[in-house]
Amino acid sequence: MNHFSLVGGALHCEGVALSRIAEDVGTPTYVYSTATLTRHLDVVQHAFHARPTLVCYSVKACSNLAILKLFAKQGAGFDIVSGGELERVRRVGGDLRKVVFAGVGKTEAEMIAAVRAGILMFNVESAEELEALDRVGRRLGIPAPFALRVNPDVDAKTHRYIATGLKTSKFGVPVEEAVALYRKSKRMKGLVARGLDCHIGSQLTDTRPVREAMARVGDVYRTLKAQGFPLTHLDVGGGLGVTYTTETPPGVADYAKAVLQPLSGLDATLVLEPGRVLVANAGVLLTRVLYRKVTPAKHFVIVDAGMNDLMRPALYEAHHDIRPVVPRKGKKHTVDVVGPVCESTDVLGHRRVLPTLKQGDLLAVMTAGAYGMSMSSSYNSRPRPAEVLVDGDRPRVVRTRETLTDLMRGETP
Ligand SMILES: *Cc1c(COP(=O)(O)O)cnc(C)c1O
Repeated sequence: MNHFSLVGGALHCEGVALSRIAEDVGTPTYVYSTATLTRHLDVVQHAFHARPTLVCYSVKACSNLAILKLFAKQGAGFDIVSGGELERVRRVGGDLRKVVFAGVGKTEAEMIAAVRAGILMFNVESAEELEALDRVGRRLGIPAPFALRVNPDVDAKTHRYIATGLKTSKFGVPVEEAVALYRKSKRMKGLVARGLDCHIGSQLTDTRPVREAMARVGDVYRTLKAQGFPLTHLDVGGGLGVTYTTETPPGVADYAKAVLQPLSGLDATLVLEPGRVLVANAGVLLTRVLYRKVTPAKHFVIVDAGMNDLMRPALYEAHHDIRPVVPRKGKKHTVDVVGPVCESTDVLGHRRVLPTLKQGDLLAVMTAGAYGMSMSSSYNSRPRPAEVLVDGDRPRVVRTRETLTDLMRGETP
C-alpha cells in the first residue's frame, strides 16, 4: 500500500497536492510519503517479532538523511556499503551498534572508521578482505566483529543485473569454503566471529530461492556453532520485491514464513536488510512535460526528468508506471515518455497509454523511491533533483535542488 492517490481529481501525496509541490519547488523532484515509509518498516518489524530480529534498512536504496532519521527513530539499524553511508547514519544519530557493513571492496580507511564506530559486524566478502580486516583490528587493538557473506548458489529468478547469489557472482564466498575460512580466522587476533551472512539478490518475487538459501545458510550456521564459534547473528539479507507493473511478489508475512521456517530452532538473532520494499512505493518522481513531438513512427512526450535523475529504466529496462498528476478524460494516445539526456536509452516509459498531454502538464513516475535519487547523477551537467518529504499536510524540502555552483564544486578550469 502507499499514500499517493487522487483527491478531487488531482494526485496527492498524503494531504498535499503534487501540483503544489511542483509549483513551490519546481521539477524534477522526488516526493516521499512519511506514512508509507513508517508503515512499511512497521510491517516488516512486526512480521518477524516472534523471534529476536534486527531490521537494518539498506541505506543505498534511498539515502536521504531525513529518511534515515525517520527509520532510526523507529528503531531500525542500517545496512551500509561504504564509509559515506556510515557517515550518513552517524549524522542522523542512528545507533551504530545496529550497523552491518557489506560490499566487496571496503577500503582500509572505511574499515578503520567502522571499527572505531563500534558497528555490529562487517559482512566480509573474500579471504583477502578478512585478512585486511584482521590487520585493522590488530592495529586498533579492537577485534573487528565479522560475518562471512556466503554465496548459497541459488538462482533468485530476478534480473541478471540484480542477482547476487549465483556462484558466478562477485559477491560473497562459496558456501563450501566458508567453514574453512572461519577456522582460519581463529588464529587471527584482530577478528571476532559474530555471525553469518547472505544476500541472494534484489526484486525477489518468489519465496522458493529464499527457502533454499535459508536452508543452506542455516546448515552452515549450525555447523559453525557446533564447532564452537561464538556466533550470535544470522543475516539473511534483503531483496524482497515490489510491484512495479504485473509482478506479484510475496507479501511480507509470506516472506517471513519463507525465512523463518527453514531456520526454526536456530539459536540466532536474525538480521534483515530490506531496502526496496521499504521505500520503493513511498516515492515518486515528479516531472513536467516540456514538448510533444510527433514523427511518422512515434509520438514522443519529452519531460524534464531524464535517465540521470532516474536510472532504472535505462539500466535494468525497469518499468515505472507514469501517471498524469491531473488526469484528463477523453482520447488516449500511445506515447514514449523520454528525457532530455543525449542518449537513446533515456526513455522513462515505452509505449505508454496516456491522455492528451500539453506542455507544462505534470507527470508522476511512480514507485521511484528505491534506487531513484540514490542512483542519480549529473550526467549532461544536469543539476540533480530536489527531494521533498511529505508528512500529513506538510511538505518539507529535505534536499534542495542542486545549483550550478554545486554542479561544478571542486573543479578547476
Ligand atoms: C542492496 C542490498 C540490500 C537491499 O536490497 P533490496 O533489494 O533493496 O532489499 C541488502 N543487502 C545487501 C548486501 C545489498 O547490497
